[in-house]
Amino acid sequence: MVEYSERQGTPVCMSQSPLEKAVQFHRHVCPGLLMGVRAAEFALQFLRVSPDRDEELVAIVETDSCAVDAIQAVLGCTFGKGNLVFLDHGKHVYTIASRERHRAVRIAQKWGNLRGAEFERFRALAQKTDLSEEEELEREELRGRILEQIMSLPFEELFDYREVQLDLPPRASIHPSVRCVRCGEGVMQTRAVETGQGWLCRPCAGEA
Ligand SMILES: [Zn+2]
Ligand SMILES: [Zn+2]
Repeated sequence: MVEYSERQGTPVCMSQSPLEKAVQFHRHVCPGLLMGVRAAEFALQFLRVSPDRDEELVAIVETDSCAVDAIQAVLGCTFGKGNLVFLDHGKHVYTIASRERHRAVRIAQKWGNLRGAEFERFRALAQKTDLSEEEELEREELRGRILEQIMSLPFEELFDYREVQLDLPPRASIHPSVRCVRCGEGVMQTRAVETGQGWLCRPCAGEA
């Protein structure tokens, strides 16, 4: 049975587990996604908060890998709400902050956490394109074992974490739009370029 709770007209499915939410959003199960589920669940516990509805939480992610889909699905910090901040550092690091609690936790994947022979073999098989039937079976068995490990290992074996001080970005606000004099399309005024001829959107200003 699916229960809905209404707030600001937004139905939120309450009965799904964090793992189910993440898999539904990401559409496949992979080690990266599950690492994200573990990080997101830990953040909720550590900060003593519920998943985000209206920008109470902010997530700063330093990767754009599978794990970030779990951060979005489980924590409700999303690109569209503006409370998902992406820093292109190529690091499995997630900083989750609560506006209400005035607290933030930085969660970093531990070096060497999943680097056993099993994991290396899984990676090699996952990257190979022409797998034999045997190799495919081996890969799926390894995947199952790795996924189980990720969900069952103590959090401290997978991640380092510490509380951090953070100046949070302001909540997303709505800005007026202006019309680009070159392409005629609307553009948020704060992103438009003012010229002698009038407003230009960034692509048109770049071409000009
Ligand atoms: Zn994935
Ligand atoms: Zn334009």
